[in-house]
Amino acid sequence: MSRFFSKSHAALTPYTPGEQPRNMKYIKLNTNESPFPPSPLAVRMASEAAKRLQLYPDPTLLELREALAARYGVLPDEVILANGSDEVLYFAFMAFCDDAHPAAFPDITYGFYSVFATLCRVPFREIPLREDFTVDPADYIGTGDTLFLANPNAPTGLTLSLRQIEEILRSNPDRVVVVDEAYVDFGGESAVSLIHRYDNLLVTGTFSKSRSMAGARLGFGIASSELIRDLDTLRYSTNPYNVNRMSAAAGLGVLADEAYTHKNCQTVIENRAYTAKRLAELGFLMTDSRANFLFVKHPDIAGKTVYTALKERGILVRHFDRDPIRDYNRITVGTREEMDALINTLSEIVREQT
Ligand code: PMP
Repeated sequence: MSRFFSKSHAALTPYTPGEQPRNMKYIKLNTNESPFPPSPLAVRMASEAAKRLQLYPDPTLLELREALAARYGVLPDEVILANGSDEVLYFAFMAFCDDAHPAAFPDITYGFYSVFATLCRVPFREIPLREDFTVDPADYIGTGDTLFLANPNAPTGLTLSLRQIEEILRSNPDRVVVVDEAYVDFGGESAVSLIHRYDNLLVTGTFSKSRSMAGARLGFGIASSELIRDLDTLRYSTNPYNVNRMSAAAGLGVLADEAYTHKNCQTVIENRAYTAKRLAELGFLMTDSRANFLFVKHPDIAGKTVYTALKERGILVRHFDRDPIRDYNRITVGTREEMDALINTLSEIVREQT
């Protein structure tokens, strides 16, 4: 820390992104990216847009908001776009949390929530998951906090039903409930249809996972137009050009190619079931993940050992060195070939370690 760094940020522990190695060619199963390239239409439209990079992008992003609104059955004024859904979450912490509106979220969830809360100097509460890693909806009924719930949750992949989300929304009418649907397209139920009934609901989504565009940094929020206006106040106060021309064009391209996204999601879902079955045969235990990753442990091998042994053999997964998930690894579901390489390597590791 330099002597110039503001004391007000001294306590900040930044989010640790998954490794992006450059020294060696890994099978990369550590950051829940899509194994498939972006839609060819998205690529074509992004490269067309590159020809006009001398111009700032449209800060209203109207065309893309219209396309997203049509896709989700909402109005363009009920949509905000951002530089990844991370940025929508950041705006939400800034907009809807303060001393009078503390934040609350599960103790095991997306690591950025506590970072944003700290950055925004918002008091927050981490609510323990049940022992089986499920969220107990009763813990979120009428809490008086601004709630952040990833559904499916990360890194467990476990979901709450729409009925459970609705109970939570109904019991907290004066607090915003943020439902982070980064992984919803791999088998979760989206809460977007509830935004017209609950003015306290903000759903966040991303083009990073099911739409194969993590590198474009494009995310969105869907909520009542009042909530969206609040988020836009923060957007216009920080970076009105938060979505660049190429990413916005790629977003339009992939939304015009839903069949491509759907096919890729189906493949990931099939590969997830295939991998889960094969890993169970090797003795691994895992949650019932509805996301594009599996959360697995072996009863006789420490999580760190599995992580290190896989890395040594060229496969990168995500290990969180903290209780109570220390024995687990989060493994992104990739292509069938990548999953076969993973299964073969894990079977060697199990043979060696047990
Ligand atoms: N929410 C969750 C639960 C995530 O795992 C991620 C991806 N790391 C994000 C949000 C943010 O995704 P992005 O900013 O790429 O849209």
